[in-house]
Amino acid sequence: MNIILLGPPGAGKGTQAQRLVERHGMKQLSTGDMLRAAVKAGTPVGLKAKAIMEAGELVSDEIVSALIGDELDAMPTGTGAIFDGYPRTAPQAASLEAILASRGRALDHVIELEVNEDALVERITGRYTCAACGKGYHDTFEQPAVAGTCDKCGSHEFKRRPDDNEETVRTRMAEYRAKTAPILPIYEARGIVSRVDGMADMDAVTGAIEAILV
Ligand code: ADP
Ligand code: AMP
Repeated sequence: MNIILLGPPGAGKGTQAQRLVERHGMKQLSTGDMLRAAVKAGTPVGLKAKAIMEAGELVSDEIVSALIGDELDAMPTGTGAIFDGYPRTAPQAASLEAILASRGRALDHVIELEVNEDALVERITGRYTCAACGKGYHDTFEQPAVAGTCDKCGSHEFKRRPDDNEETVRTRMAEYRAKTAPILPIYEARGIVSRVDGMADMDAVTGAIEAILV
């Protein structure tokens, strides 16, 4: 099973992808995570991407599609892929088709997380993750059971993204509206789009996604 989680920044794509990974052994393919790793490692891709990401703009289609192709090649063929934050433009959607076809894969579902934009700034400015395992948290909506200790791995180190500030979020939302939302009709025409209420609580969102995947 290969699925796309689609929605603006803060919609809950990463949160839900992490849950699907744990429950179904699928693999999360987040171009944002791949780019952040490249920035941290100081690779040529990272050097190109850093300022673009800090501004909330989109990295080039060629760079992100190459990252996705490489990650898919490193995956066992039987493992399902969850595309999180990719594709984000029409050219990326076209590349994904070719990337999947050449690897004997096909898209099963595009799941759109529908959210109220007014809530996204609060979601994003309160977001943080475990520095060791990457588990996502929120200052208000998802705190660790024991304050300061990651539920998943026990680490005490957490981090916040440099682009998770209100000004950059506004640019990222505008990029979503202008370049990403317009790719939905491509998938609608194929009858593979499902919509989920992303404003519901996290467990309800997970339940709605599970109901689509059965
Ligand atoms: P995305 O990957 O789409 O950018 P995230 O999954 O990182 O979004 O979610 C953004 C923030 O909002 C995180 O801190 C997460 O804990 C929180 N969050 C995710 N889903 C919900 C939800 N349904 N209700 C409230 N907060 C949520
Ligand atoms: P995300 O983690 O998905 O919120 O992405 C963080 C940032 O990485 C975005 O604001 C972009 O600058 C960049 N990025 C991630 N995925 C893509 C993509 N598919 N296409 C272009 N830029 C991307």
